[in-house]
Amino acid sequence: MAKKTSPFDNVDAFRRSVLIVLLLFTSSFGASFAVLNYLNDNYKAMFGEIAMGTFALVIIPLVRKTPHLIRWSLVYLVLFNTTMMLILATPQSAPSVFAWVLLIPILSHMLLGRALGGGVTVVFLVTAFLIYYMRFADSAVHGNARALLNVAGVALCIFGFSFVYETSRSRAEKALQRQALTDPLTGLGNRALLQLRAEEEEARHERYGTSHALLLLDIDYFKKINDSHGHDAGDNALKAMSALLSDNVRTNDDVFRYGGEEFCLLLANASARDAREAAEKLRHLIEASSFEDAGKTLSFTASIGVAACPEDGCDHQTLLGIADRRLYAAKLGGRNRVEWA
Ligand code: GH3
Ligand code: MG
Ligand code: MG
Repeated sequence: MAKKTSPFDNVDAFRRSVLIVLLLFTSSFGASFAVLNYLNDNYKAMFGEIAMGTFALVIIPLVRKTPHLIRWSLVYLVLFNTTMMLILATPQSAPSVFAWVLLIPILSHMLLGRALGGGVTVVFLVTAFLIYYMRFADSAVHGNARALLNVAGVALCIFGFSFVYETSRSRAEKALQRQALTDPLTGLGNRALLQLRAEEEEARHERYGTSHALLLLDIDYFKKINDSHGHDAGDNALKAMSALLSDNVRTNDDVFRYGGEEFCLLLANASARDAREAAEKLRHLIEASSFEDAGKTLSFTASIGVAACPEDGCDHQTLLGIADRRLYAAKLGGRNRVEWA
């Protein structure tokens, strides 16, 4: 089977890089701080840092390949933050160690997204404030309300900005994905989305032995509509065709704009015979339908090539090739026809 070409790979690549950079930082900072803590006789912190640093180094090769990136990120962030909390709670650690707390909202949102990242942030920020309060409540410098408000204020600002940033990043990413998979004229899925959906059907066939079919459909003499009535009339014909196909397929079936005036239907759980019947029904409906353009009633016909899995093979490119050959035969045979063999 062809390799999956998911448009969601980009998010993964970004998060994977963030996690690997974090792991590299953890191991190098862990080593440096372990030396300093050894010199200060703070052995508990030293062991924590050595353990974290080693763990971070060891899992880098796993993180490079894992398909469960969010799970690994969550496990690692919880460990990283817990180690940070333990170090914060150690009386020997310097008050400036609290500066590391500011990393929590940024890393959590970048690695885990808004919902999970927000949850992790709340848990560890609250814990860090409690530790701060317990450690410095009696101290003249850090125990006053202004000092605590400064730390809390900066942490909450970073939390807020990370949340807003992640929200708009994730919205922009979803909008881009939608655009990358949609034909702007008809609103149908495009060829890239067809490829993804066909790979899903192919995988379902391999796993459960299900069948599916492709219908490749091309409007007959479409150039004449453009030439006689203008490009806008051609566009309206494409929209009318898109609406007619979408309204007349089962909910499990998908309609795509394959190219200029070519459409492709992916029929899930359909036998070769179901596909032939669906193609004939659509051909009739197209022939009988019309659309309005600038006060004129226009109509068109279409030719359809059918290919079915498993009869014609189940690889997407093979099915497309066969459907395309049959579509060509339907054109040669006089147009306004369905070819399935
Ligand atoms: P056949 O019956 O052999 O399919 O003939 P045809 O005229 O439909 O096919 P041909 O490939 O000669 O012409 C297709 C035309 O579709 C040419 C192109 O300008 C037009 N076309 C492609 N995309 C669009 C579009 O988005 N809008 C409009 N209006 N026309 C388009
Ligand atoms: Mg064509
Ligand atoms: Mg055509």
